[in-house]
Amino acid sequence: MPDKHEPASPAARRPDLPVETHVRGVLAGDRAILARTITLIESNNPAHFDKAQEVLRQLLPYTGQSMRVGITGVPGAGKSTLIEALGMLLVERHHRVAVLAVGPTSSVTGGSILGDKTRMDNLSRHPAAYIRPSPAGGTLGGVARKTRETMLLCEAAGFDVILIETVGTGQSEIAVRSMVDFFLLVLITGAGDELQGIKRGIMEIADAVVINKADGDNKIRAQAARAEYHRALRYLAPATEGWRTPAVTCSALTGEGIAELWSLIETFRQQTQASGAFAERRRQQTRDWLHALIEDQLRRHFFDHPQVKDQLPLLEQAVLSGKLPATAAVRELFKLVTPEPAE
Ligand code: GDP
Repeated sequence: MPDKHEPASPAARRPDLPVETHVRGVLAGDRAILARTITLIESNNPAHFDKAQEVLRQLLPYTGQSMRVGITGVPGAGKSTLIEALGMLLVERHHRVAVLAVGPTSSVTGGSILGDKTRMDNLSRHPAAYIRPSPAGGTLGGVARKTRETMLLCEAAGFDVILIETVGTGQSEIAVRSMVDFFLLVLITGAGDELQGIKRGIMEIADAVVINKADGDNKIRAQAARAEYHRALRYLAPATEGWRTPAVTCSALTGEGIAELWSLIETFRQQTQASGAFAERRRQQTRDWLHALIEDQLRRHFFDHPQVKDQLPLLEQAVLSGKLPATAAVRELFKLVTPEPAE
């Protein structure tokens, strides 16, 4: 989907671009080509896969230079407003900011609900910002892979801050945590822990907790909540070795606390880069990603196998009717895809 705010360059209008055009266009920061390349990465058409991977392979040396920040919170916590405020502050400081999203696809519209440009009005119009909604459809694993690869493309295109928004469903937070350097949990007062999905697990993966909407009548309550979370966090293991997860307040609406929030992220970066924790996390994330892709591929290879497709319903029936143990059915199926029977 080409970026509607950008006039498509002539090359981008051609139906199918050669690999070199993708690579050169992304490196030159051509937004229309970047959008086309992301579309290629997101494509579920197997014919696009090899080309997409070749483009990525060539761009890989130009990736990794950004600060990757994940942002989560329940709908209404103010994530988009905060991303708009933080994003505007960053572009004013001459950063280039890409906003991506990992989230559930709306079953009603078929569209994605996160990373919505209409909710980030000023940022989406800024030439130093690029906003891409969550890829539509597919499993969370598939969406996460696409977002991760999109992040790499954005880095190659020169974006030095990547903000990845997600909504509090538990699983998508884990997926985003696995691709970012810093993970921010956005909370509001009065919503109740249960409502905000703050199971201990989410607090434990956060590098900072920000109580948003600390303005007007709500300021005092937000500050009280901050103190409470600050205490609670002392009893949790930190998400990042050597970093004490702080609780802070901000108002995405007035902008108060937004510059301080960014300073906090910069301090985190400096400290973890000096300690080696930053690089170690990225190595671990790359390793985990590789293994997740292997599992994906195995699953696909198995379930897409024509004979498995043929036999699975029959064997399933045999298992359900008690004629065949499940273990034996699995063995039968694996015989179809591998020469050696699986153990
Ligand atoms: P999201 O669903 O988490 O992305 O939340 P939004 O950014 O769409 O914000 C939800 C609502 O809260 C909107 O009406 C915002 O204007 C409002 N909001 C967001 N941040 C603030 C804030 O700092 N203070 C106040 N008072 N309202 C805010």
